[in-house]
Parts: sequence; C-alpha cells; structure tokens
Amino acid sequence: MTGSPLGPGAEFDRIRGIAAALGSRAGELGDDCAIIPEGAGSLVASTDTSTEGVHFKLEWISLEEAGYRSAASALSDLAAAGARVTGLLAALSAPSTATKDQLAEFMQGVGDAVADTAGLVLGGDLTAAADWSATITVVGRAARPMRRKGARPGDGVWVTGRLGGSRAAVQAWLAGGTPDAAARTAFARPVPRIEAGTWLAGAGATAMLDLSDGLAGDAGHLAAASGVAVDIDLDLIPVHPSVPGPDRALFAAAGGEDYELLVALPQSFSAGSAGGVPLTRIGTVSDGKGARLLRDGKVIVLPPGYNHFA
Ligand SMILES: [Mg+2]
Repeated sequence: MTGSPLGPGAEFDRIRGIAAALGSRAGELGDDCAIIPEGAGSLVASTDTSTEGVHFKLEWISLEEAGYRSAASALSDLAAAGARVTGLLAALSAPSTATKDQLAEFMQGVGDAVADTAGLVLGGDLTAAADWSATITVVGRAARPMRRKGARPGDGVWVTGRLGGSRAAVQAWLAGGTPDAAARTAFARPVPRIEAGTWLAGAGATAMLDLSDGLAGDAGHLAAASGVAVDIDLDLIPVHPSVPGPDRALFAAAGGEDYELLVALPQSFSAGSAGGVPLTRIGTVSDGKGARLLRDGKVIVLPPGYNHFA
C-alpha cells in the first residue's frame, strides 16, 4: 500500500490485508486522517465506529455519554492532523426497540462533542441493528496537515495531558466497582485536543498521532510510519491521578483511549503547554526501528496495545 506503514499487532495485520486487497484503488492509507490537498491548505477526513459491547457498555455510561465519546474519539483524529473541525456525519445504528428519546439522547452527546470543537453535525443516517453503534465521519481543514510520518532522529517525543485515566475507569468497572469521577470523565467525555493539535502543527511538529490504542502501541505506529526508533522513558510519562499501582507508569503506557496527542518536535523545542493543555517530553527519536519503553536505561517489555481482535 502507499501511505504510512502501521506498527505491529493483529488488528493492523488485518488492515494491512485490506489495504493489499484494495491495491492501487486506495489512496494513501495508514494515517489518522485522509489528507486531501485543496487550495492553500488541506481538507482532512476520518471515520471511526464505536460499538456497544466493544467500545462502551450501557451499564457503565449513559446514551448521552456514549454519543459524546463516540464523536470525541472520531474528532480526536482531526486533532492528530492539526486540523480545525468543520463538522461530522453520524451513521447511527440502534436496536429497533430504541425510543425516539433514546435516539435523541445519544445524538445530544454527539452534538455536544462537536459543538465543543466549534463544528456542526452535518448529516447522518439511522438504521436498526442488534446493538448500539455509531460510525462518525469527521471533516476538517488544516493549514499544515500533520501525519504519523516525518519524525527525525534527534527529535523529542512529547505527549499532551495525562495518561491512563480511561483505562483506570474500565478496570474499575470490570472489577465490579465504580471509577472515581476523574477516571469516569476520562472515559466518558474525552476531550479531542483540537487546540493543542493546531498549536503543535504551528510550533513545528514533525509527526503526530492521537493515543487511541495506548502509548506503547501508538509509539510503534509513529516509529513505523516515520521509519525511526522511538524510545520512551517510563518515568517521564505524565500519569493520570486515577491510575492505580503498583506500576502506575506502565499501567498508563498500556492504557488505551486516552485521546491525548503523541508528537515529535525538533530537539530545540521547549514548552510546558500546548493550546492550554500540559505538554510533557517523554522520549527521543533515533535511527533504527520500533518503539521501546525504558526505565533506568533498561528495556521494559512493551505491553500489547488495546486490540479489538486479540
Ligand atoms: Mg487516531
């Protein structure tokens, strides 16, 4: 396929198979967004499905929160491209027993998520299915669209926000408990980092992606797409306050669905925040391949990323 190589993983082996089947009929695949040059900048688009039982459970969160989360996770890909949001189209599937009020509640959440990024719901579709599921197609514009490829040896590796909160919530629910308020918010109402993404693109970022599969897996995608090695210092990871022990940094590194940005920036770059969000340097790009987690200079085995097909 043309486009950006993906990192290792069973889900990505399947995507590589689909790309191979499409061959020359596909454009540049493998990035967070499709980037379509238009005028002085680019049109960027991405599509993302959130399904009950796979991405969320309605015993955990409300329909409104499920809608918010579904839209926010899709909008996060626009943040990764350094794009501003135009809007989204929402293809919603729901059980035939769903009421008009329930459908409206889900779409209230979708509407709030896109309104929070100054975009609009542009259209959609509604169909009956066994479970709740939303396929959200987001559209935006970028003056300088960012890709996963472009990181250079010597660049610093940085991350926005704090990691592991969403995983902390899921772990609490799976253990039969209730997550604390901050962890629940991280899972139910993730914030697409649109402001940070556009700021970072303007500040000279060389490569960027959003953390959907977990830092450990997503750092592998940045490394594969850019053709470089990425070393992450575990003890520099900004850990969400809700993350439990014993190894909080490793828990955070393996946690998916944070929707923070992982970004490579020139060695000389230095800042403590990006678009109002904390920004932390956690590693370095070098010659080589693959992503590694290090502690005191020793390699810690990469925990697998969140994987829908594992
Ligand atoms: Mg993404």
